[in-house]
Amino acid sequence: MMQQYMQTKKEYPDCILFYRLGDFYEMFFDDALTASKELEITLTGKNCGLKERAPMCGVPYHAVDGYLNRLVSKGYKVAICEQLEDPAAAKGIVKRDVVRIVTPGTNLDTQALDETKNNYIMCIAYASDHYGVSVADVSTGEYMVTEIENSEKLFDEIYKFMPSELICNEAFYMSGMDFELLKEKLGITVYSLDSWYFDDAVCERVLKEHFHAGTIEGLGLTDYDCGVIAAGALMQYLVETQKRDLSHISHLTIYASGKYMLLDSSTRRNLELCETLRDKQKRGSLLWVLDKTKTAMGARTLRKYIEQPLIDKSAIEKRLDAVDELVKNAISREEIREYLSPVYDLERLVCRITYQSANPRDLIAFQSSLAMLPHIKYILNDMQTPLLKELNEELDTLGDLCKLVSDSIKEDPPIAMKEGGIIKDGYNAEVDKLRNAKSDGKDWLAKLETEEREKTGIKNLRIKYNKVFGYYLEVTNSFKNLVPDYYTRKQTLANAERYIIPELKELEDTILGAEDKLYALEYQLYSEVRDTIGKEVVRIQKTAKAIAKLDAFASLALVAEQNNYVRPKMNDKGLIDIKDGRHPVVEKMISNDMFICNDTYLNDKKERISIITGPNMAGKSTYMRQTALIVLMAQIGSFVPASSANIGVVDRIFTRVGASDDLASGQSTFMVEMTEVANILRNATNKSLLILDEIGRGTSTFDGLSIAWAVIEYISNSKLLGAKTLFATHYHELTELEGKIENVNNYCIAVKEKGDDIIFLRKIVKGGADKSYGIQVARLAGVPQSVTDRAKEIVEELVQADVTGKIKEIEVQGQEASKPKAKHFDEVDLAQMSLFDTVKDDDVIKEIKELDLANLTPIDALNTLYQLQNKL
Ligand code: ADP
Repeated sequence: MMQQYMQTKKEYPDCILFYRLGDFYEMFFDDALTASKELEITLTGKNCGLKERAPMCGVPYHAVDGYLNRLVSKGYKVAICEQLEDPAAAKGIVKRDVVRIVTPGTNLDTQALDETKNNYIMCIAYASDHYGVSVADVSTGEYMVTEIENSEKLFDEIYKFMPSELICNEAFYMSGMDFELLKEKLGITVYSLDSWYFDDAVCERVLKEHFHAGTIEGLGLTDYDCGVIAAGALMQYLVETQKRDLSHISHLTIYASGKYMLLDSSTRRNLELCETLRDKQKRGSLLWVLDKTKTAMGARTLRKYIEQPLIDKSAIEKRLDAVDELVKNAISREEIREYLSPVYDLERLVCRITYQSANPRDLIAFQSSLAMLPHIKYILNDMQTPLLKELNEELDTLGDLCKLVSDSIKEDPPIAMKEGGIIKDGYNAEVDKLRNAKSDGKDWLAKLETEEREKTGIKNLRIKYNKVFGYYLEVTNSFKNLVPDYYTRKQTLANAERYIIPELKELEDTILGAEDKLYALEYQLYSEVRDTIGKEVVRIQKTAKAIAKLDAFASLALVAEQNNYVRPKMNDKGLIDIKDGRHPVVEKMISNDMFICNDTYLNDKKERISIITGPNMAGKSTYMRQTALIVLMAQIGSFVPASSANIGVVDRIFTRVGASDDLASGQSTFMVEMTEVANILRNATNKSLLILDEIGRGTSTFDGLSIAWAVIEYISNSKLLGAKTLFATHYHELTELEGKIENVNNYCIAVKEKGDDIIFLRKIVKGGADKSYGIQVARLAGVPQSVTDRAKEIVEELVQADVTGKIKEIEVQGQEASKPKAKHFDEVDLAQMSLFDTVKDDDVIKEIKELDLANLTPIDALNTLYQLQNKL
């Protein structure tokens, strides 16, 4: 046996081998060491002819799923080696082989998967200047391919799909990608595969064979040389790990990443699209607000919509039309949603069906889901918009399959497939006959029991059954003397004896024979039903997709109605005009109707950049994110929280918001901030929307102010960038740019002063804030009064130093100044200035400068310091 084990292990060196031995899966050697540690199970040993006992540990077969999931979620691959024949019937050693390899990206266990999320595996094939990327979800049959031209976009793509496993060629592994980041921060398991997976001829052949296509061109992959390799390598990997029919992967979708709005990883995080920044929860994210879907398929689809907004105006309008119709037909929509409610996850069910792992209850779940489809289709028949009409066409009610299951499978079947009780009466004559034999057998037994009682005079003689002896006659001790000779004793109990007679054994053969035959026949019929369904995988998947989209649109429509959203108008002219906009998440988080709405107006002309000032806590970030989210929602096809909105389609949204949480990566906050700014300035276009919050905060005041200033100059210049931008800052010096640059405008968030305190009005108004109110906010936050009083004094002195006066005189670069040119002023290098230069304590400074440090004793130094302090 150990030799068989070693042989098998040799074929799967990178997997932990679960080797089936009776009721256990055993692991040996290094696998046992690893598994016992990771699973916290006892390590034992086995004598196997080596000098030392082989380390060994095991898990019981009935609890294997939990252990398997734990190992796989930690990034291990597990090969499951089963007994392929009945050990009782086997001659010599039982035949065994690996039946499946479970990896993080191919795990199908329902307990391990979140049904509202896809479980993706991604394959990357890197060739000198571009990347082939293929993505699949084995549990739903999705399979996609694209090509990407640079590593930044690739990273965005990885972030979009968040695969649990990434496989790649060696060239990619060596390409300098930050794998630690992928592994540690995103929890992605990465494997580089042998080069033969990526052989172009092999990849082409594999794809052609799988899809029964004559040519690669026929699959639409003519221009995708790298894509073919990625998709082909992924298919080979799936075949190798799944070791079974993959017919549910029925279609390869070629997608251009250019079809969708590009969102980089920090923007996804900052806008809290599917999870919150701080605790990675769905609650508090945009998805949380928008997701009122009824089915797991719908939930996954809506999440995909949010993760990849559209950029084609007509495609957006098409979705908006569909949502609009479902908003207007609220009664039909709610009826549809009610019928969607009992619909199970058809995509994952059909995967289990083609994998032959679906149990009888799965088929009933499948059937009861299909039973809803005609009702849904009936309602859809009345819908007018093109997209809903298309969905209606794609929705096949699958009546034949529904009937097949309801004719053949009992309504409340057991989970077990081989213990009968599955097939309905009347479906198959042979099943009915065998069942009768089984129930007739009961009558026969009763008859025999009466006869034997009469013959022997034993009044309480009973025929009973147990698994060990089968049927037997039981006689209590008080009647023992009446037992005739032809009774053969089988067992003696304390108060009774058990016997058999030939007639009883004959009956037993008929009855139990019928039972065995019945179970085998039921299993066979059940498998036939399941396989018939399995053959219709393409039809089922198409219907599942239609249901998923319908569910997502119905959810968007319901949310629009409940939250008072409006349908946005879309334009291609770069105008963003939002009236009474609200932040979709914040308005839900604060108590009823307390949210103050605000307008946004941006265009490609004079209103390109809004500089937003206002004290901390005034609502600047909320306002900017709300604008970004409204634009993004519109491009998903959702209605938006506003009283009206006209949205110019943007190609990308960039955000640079607050202090980043990247401290763990070892970069300073300022470095992270500047890296993000660099990325934005390099990749944004004049069709992008930029949300920049507090740029330059991470360095000294004048450095920061200067950088912020220069960044605005750059963005506003249509020859360089010209993107629409909301720029929040606490440097109210930047408000000087209005007038100097014609497309920059000042806004501030209004606050009201009340004595020494302020009240936040949360309303955005034209103009710059004249003060930063930092001290008032500090007071609100509970900073001791002595500190805030001292701060006030310092501010006074700084104001006298008239830094702002100098700023007013700075000329703007690369712009036609719209004001008469400011007077040139004598070279002040802002970056070189330090805060303390402006304090007018010249005497003190002079004294410090004159100190003869070389000849100063410590006590003199302390005294001098004391004197100096008193002068301040
Ligand atoms: P800033 O970026 O100016 O420091 P935030 O945008 O973080 O301020 O807002 C601070 C808090 O004010 C938010 O947590 C939110 O609860 C509240 N807030 C912001 N905008 C509004 C608004 N328009 N209506 C009501 N409350 C708001």
